[in-house]
Amino acid sequence: MYKMRYTAPRTLTEALRLLAEESNAYVVAGSTNVVPDLRARKIKPSLLLSIENLGELRGIHVDGDVVTVGALTTINELLASHDIQVHAGILHQAAQRFADPLVRNRATVGGNLANASPAADTAVPLLALDAVLCICSAKEERDVPLSTFFAGPGRTVLKRDELIRAIKFPSDSANHKAFIKFGLREAMAISLVSVGVELRLQGDEVTYAKVAFGAVAPTPIRGFRTEEFLLGKKPTTEVLDEARQVASQEVRPISDVRATESYRRYISGVLLVRAMKMALGGGMS
Ligand SMILES: Cc1cc2nc3c(=O)[nH]c(=O)nc-3n(C[C@H](O)[C@H](O)[C@H](O)COP(=O)(O)OP(=O)(O)OC[C@H]3O[C@@H](n4cnc5c(N)ncnc54)[C@H](O)[C@@H]3O)c2cc1C
Repeated sequence: MYKMRYTAPRTLTEALRLLAEESNAYVVAGSTNVVPDLRARKIKPSLLLSIENLGELRGIHVDGDVVTVGALTTINELLASHDIQVHAGILHQAAQRFADPLVRNRATVGGNLANASPAADTAVPLLALDAVLCICSAKEERDVPLSTFFAGPGRTVLKRDELIRAIKFPSDSANHKAFIKFGLREAMAISLVSVGVELRLQGDEVTYAKVAFGAVAPTPIRGFRTEEFLLGKKPTTEVLDEARQVASQEVRPISDVRATESYRRYISGVLLVRAMKMALGGGMS
């Protein structure tokens, strides 16, 4: 008969020691992904290691122009945070569209990233903010750019004995930003396509562009080609139309129960233009 033990250590050192020693340990934070996975027998750990008591993984701090968000920060805590609203507006926008208040109360940012869904809603704004993950094990600490963290659907570069401790990013200096989540319904929907844009304009020329997409590739992705296309251009109607085509070609969607590959490709371009217009407000020429 399958037996699973449960533990909830009170210090990071203890949690990392257990992770290093127990080869079939499985980390749980808010449990909104883990519990359905346990019920569906997708995972069968011998030890379920709850990290919920680890104070070291909590809190939102701004130090100069660096924002640090503890991995155990919940989506509701992001929403309630004035610092997130001021220094990471696009992440705040994404939190507003995340699930419902009940799930937002349990779901953590670290869990959302480690779960590595192509549609993870915090991944898109954090990619556009150029976030870096602070990862630790009993042996070492390392920083991994979010853009290199995802390895495929449900897969990351995290080693078996590692935890995400925090997420760091520069305070948002873009003066134009927008996040759009497009689903089959307004609330409680998995993203069909999501887009985040961070732009800076000097005069009427784009001098800084970060673009990210969700649910249109095996992992959440940065739109590097779209960014390159936008840099140095005036965001006229014609340029936005070309950017729409670049974005549609850059994404790598699949067909699934929610949408076909070609629909997702088309919508990616449309949403990019919509996000740019939202971000630029009156700044369009
Ligand atoms: C009804 C419902 C609605 C949902 N809606 C959305 C939505 O709108 N948008 C969205 O993006 N997601 C949604 N989700 C998915 C889920 O809520 C999120 O992915 C959530 O952020 C996961 O966080 P958690 O703390 O619950 O993770 P858990 O379930 O505890 O863990 C998820 C995975 O991350 C690992 N993990 C957790 N924390 C760490 C850490 N610090 N270091 C290393 N590994 C870690 C776990 O081992 C596990 O593999 C929904 C889920 C449900 C059930």
